[in-house]
Amino acid sequence: MKIVVLKFGGTSVGTIEKIKKVTDIIIEHKKKKNKVIVVSSAMSGVTNDLIKKSKQISNNFIDSEYDVLVSSGEQVACSLIAGRLNHKGFKSRSWLGWQIPIFTNGPYTNSRIQQVNKNKLLRFLKEGGIPIITGFQGVNMNERVTTIGRGGSDASAIMIAKSFKAQRCVIYTDVEGVYTTDPNKLKKAKKIKVISYEEMLEMASLGAKVMQPVSIQDARLNRINIEVKSSFIKKPGTLITKRTNLNDNRIITGISSTHNDAKVTLVGVKDRPGVAASIFKPLSINSINVDMVVQNISPNGKETDLTFTIKAEDLNKTKKIIQENKSIKFKKVLFQKGVSKISIIGVGMITTPGVTFRMFQALANKKINIQVISTSEIKISVLINKKDAKKALVTLHKEFKLQE
Ligand code: ASP
Ligand code: MG
Repeated sequence: MKIVVLKFGGTSVGTIEKIKKVTDIIIEHKKKKNKVIVVSSAMSGVTNDLIKKSKQISNNFIDSEYDVLVSSGEQVACSLIAGRLNHKGFKSRSWLGWQIPIFTNGPYTNSRIQQVNKNKLLRFLKEGGIPIITGFQGVNMNERVTTIGRGGSDASAIMIAKSFKAQRCVIYTDVEGVYTTDPNKLKKAKKIKVISYEEMLEMASLGAKVMQPVSIQDARLNRINIEVKSSFIKKPGTLITKRTNLNDNRIITGISSTHNDAKVTLVGVKDRPGVAASIFKPLSINSINVDMVVQNISPNGKETDLTFTIKAEDLNKTKKIIQENKSIKFKKVLFQKGVSKISIIGVGMITTPGVTFRMFQALANKKINIQVISTSEIKISVLINKKDAKKALVTLHKEFKLQE
């Protein structure tokens, strides 16, 4: 039995007209003699509206009721899809998470899917039915409705594809796929045909808009191939798959950039065990997300300099925390807004020497100063002045021949 899982995002089912279009896509797959399982998100804007309502009722709305409330948008979208398919002469019905059931564990608002029960759905598929399953929601051991975090219907689709050993899992969305860099920032950005899970995760700043990062991790662990494509434009999208399925010899797959970062430098920090921990502990308690961290080797073994980056909006809070932190000693602290992080990403750099040099030389040729450097196995990031960000993006996109 060839099974395909089709997931539709909020914008794909955003209006009645769009829902009608989506059912045409479903019918196309069905006519190819596939068993089709559909997972849908709520109509766009609905989940946000429900969250707003919960806040109007109470600024401390209880989590278990929050899940019942915010998961209701999916029920509406799924029944409309199923209703339209019936209207068109196809056997279809909606399934809520608890009806299947999709079991979750973990806290309300942020549960994880543990198991998808297949029996009822299999029976329905065998009868030729098209099940339309609510994404984003499940049920826990106490038989209460749960949700799995914003954007969670991607993860629902992937876990369902895994349970049914589906041949294909297609994520239909409002963009044509994953691009070499944000097409809103660079017109020359190109659609990537094939990308590895790891690259996709590293490109989170781009990828997050296309797919929820947790769901990419789920797909990676379960080796599910994902196709991302547009609901509105009939063109091949992007395939997210394992590294060994990448058979071209490109070095860099994509470039991501951030545009609203800030840099903090502590000069003359005492160099002894536990210092870094005491700097970052209060930041973590206050949910401040620290990104790049660089510490110099201390020349005299007594003092060192430590630099890290955060989101610019967290700068004031961070200033206060650092200045009030009595457990650390330093000579002075510098804060700088208006920095950008540019990262080149590609599994090809593992086997290709000289990528770092090429990146730095290309930036140097454009007189772009690098303030901080950090690397991972498949990523090189530099921190630069925000005003150079666009120029750096253009330069690196060209240097690594991404528009070709
Ligand atoms: N409707 C949910 C949300 O807006 C889940 C999803 O769209 O994936 O977060
Ligand atoms: Mg989404």
